[in-house]
Amino acid sequence: MGPEMSAQKGPGLDPGLDPGLDQGPEEILRRIFGYPSFRGAQREVVERVLQGGDALVLMPTGGGKSLCYQIPALLRPGTGIVISPLIALMQDQVDALRQLGVRAAFLNSSLSPADQWHVEQALLAGDLDLLYVAPERLLTERFLDLLDRVPIALFAIDEAHCVSQWGHDFRPEYTQLDRLHARWPAVPRIALTATADAPTRREILERLELAAAAQFVGSFDRPNIRYRVVEKDQPRRQLLAFLRDEHAGDCGIVYCLSRRKVEETAELLRGQGLNALAYHAGMTAEQRRANQAEFLRGDGVIVVATIAFGMGIDKPDVRFVAHLDLPKSLEAYYQETGRAGRDGLPADAWMTYGLGDLVLLRRLIEDSPSEERFKRVELHKLNALLGYCESTQCRRQVLLGYFGESLEEPCGNCDTCLTPVERWDGTLAAQKALSCIYRTEQRFGVNYLIEVLRGAQSERIRRFGHDRVSTFGIGQELSADQWKSVYRQLVAAGLASVDVEGHGALRLTEQSRPVLRGESRVWLRRDPERRRQGGGPRAGSAEAPLDPESALLWERLRAYRRELAQQQGVPPYVIFSDATLREMRIYRPRDGGELGRISGVGVVKLERYGEGFLRVLADHAAEHGRPADCPPLPDAPTRATPAREGRTWDLGLSATVRETLALCRAGVDVASIAERRGIKVTTVYSHLARCIEEGALGLREAVPLGEDEIGAIRYAFEQLAPDSPFTLKPVYEAFQGQYDYGVLRCVRAAMTAD
Ligand SMILES: [Zn+2]
Repeated sequence: MGPEMSAQKGPGLDPGLDPGLDQGPEEILRRIFGYPSFRGAQREVVERVLQGGDALVLMPTGGGKSLCYQIPALLRPGTGIVISPLIALMQDQVDALRQLGVRAAFLNSSLSPADQWHVEQALLAGDLDLLYVAPERLLTERFLDLLDRVPIALFAIDEAHCVSQWGHDFRPEYTQLDRLHARWPAVPRIALTATADAPTRREILERLELAAAAQFVGSFDRPNIRYRVVEKDQPRRQLLAFLRDEHAGDCGIVYCLSRRKVEETAELLRGQGLNALAYHAGMTAEQRRANQAEFLRGDGVIVVATIAFGMGIDKPDVRFVAHLDLPKSLEAYYQETGRAGRDGLPADAWMTYGLGDLVLLRRLIEDSPSEERFKRVELHKLNALLGYCESTQCRRQVLLGYFGESLEEPCGNCDTCLTPVERWDGTLAAQKALSCIYRTEQRFGVNYLIEVLRGAQSERIRRFGHDRVSTFGIGQELSADQWKSVYRQLVAAGLASVDVEGHGALRLTEQSRPVLRGESRVWLRRDPERRRQGGGPRAGSAEAPLDPESALLWERLRAYRRELAQQQGVPPYVIFSDATLREMRIYRPRDGGELGRISGVGVVKLERYGEGFLRVLADHAAEHGRPADCPPLPDAPTRATPAREGRTWDLGLSATVRETLALCRAGVDVASIAERRGIKVTTVYSHLARCIEEGALGLREAVPLGEDEIGAIRYAFEQLAPDSPFTLKPVYEAFQGQYDYGVLRCVRAAMTAD
């Protein structure tokens, strides 16, 4: 769809569809966007703006921010003006809205003067529901005058953190956006961001004069992302195994630290027949643009990139983000991995990590010409990151804890939850390891030290006389890999350091002393055994593999979607998201009525694409029959419940929760759901608890308990945890572990839902 279309009326928006005033937000959400219910705070935000109030919305990427202004813009008279600095995204955003039958357009420097004129005419004629503009355009006197001549539904200020002079995304034009309020005091404004901490939030409120705005803060948890850190062994082979075993045909991002490594890795992947593209700041702007466009529009494209890649990438179906090198900080890690799974479907954040990484990063910080004060902050950040890598706790708890958010229980969807990691008393091993550094005069790297500890017969050791030091051969009880793990952890904990000048020789530090003297104990993480063939330790893919029949249907649906996308020159996810195709695969709708109940299928898309997709499904069913265990469609539509007080971070029923719900409703028991979906029993229970909270499932349907048992548990909650409705432990202990945490969670959910 070329820009010359920008001025045209949205296709297919027939009178029956027109979002008139008699339709409420739920109706618009269901009919136009095809979603059964609002998620989390969305409903409240929409209500606030509908009534003309200002709002500040902080939601993680993938939290459904844009609906918060799109729906009020459709319901209020006039055009919604969306201010965004991300010019590259506007075309896709507008394409996606038009697919839904919404009359949207954009104005930025990429349009020809003639196209701009068309858009302005459409605005004046009242033919636009939403208009996206870049801030520099908005603030021209000419454009402001133009806006004076039309009714305005609202101003949405996207990426509102760009107003902060302390942030790296600072945009000077943003500081002038307070002019909007001065000029149109009656028009509601909604500021949105995914990255604001408390000081930035204050700055947004102040600079945009949003003092009266209601604030909506979502959780920064991204529950569908599975976090994993694997010990670095042969990183490229590990990466290949990860891609081959878990993400064949998927779209994703691989981050590397250096440009050279980006080039080499992309080359390697292409050599293996993968569609991999490089992206780094050393390439020409044109090459970068082309590769980014290919990534956004293509199907199954992998981008290998430095951190230069990512700003303004809003592709919903990125299935993995892999780090071959450590990111710079936990903030960076959160932001980079946050590009995965914005559609809410399972996605992987996978990282290889080893001693070399932390040496390299320490060196980068120490060698940098910046001030001492600044270096200290950087080192502190690095240490937080190492704490995450070396953690034996749930990774998500560590990650969210870093951002000041606490997660009550382990998540069940990270490597340490899925394969719990033991801690062991490594005091003696640490003493041996440190003393070996000392005995060899702090001049050798880790591999040599390990050879000495394990008593290797080597010419080099004999030459230096290290076969006669007291630590020679005293470390036979551990393998070379295990010693490597010990040394890595000692360095990460600051109990040893790496001499960056001295070719990576390990040295003792101040903190080594108490360990050597036996005054302090050292607890170490027992790294999972490495599998000899290829990959690192593997916790199972984020989603269980499909059976061949489902896999074939999945491919057919995707191929048909790709065909439609190519015909129209839009990214495939603009036609239907992966989440929608996945529901088609699970529920196998047979007619328009059933298809219309699939999440993401609104009336316009049903009319446009329904027949084609139903044909693909019917052809497939003719060849393979309908699976016997096909779950019934979810009830249309799941009732939206207003978010309860203090729970505005609720994220509603995600696709994975709905899948569990469907199976539960079909009478499949919890253990079988877990097995069939390849997830843990606790995870199934947490899904069911969500459904109970949302009123989508009754407690008795979810747990095999009698009335009296439920009564006893409720009583225990009321007695034991009256003030902290989120604590399960006292109740669990009161029943001496008789009831699974998951069961308790469901009962508690029923209590909050009442
Ligand atoms: Zn976890």
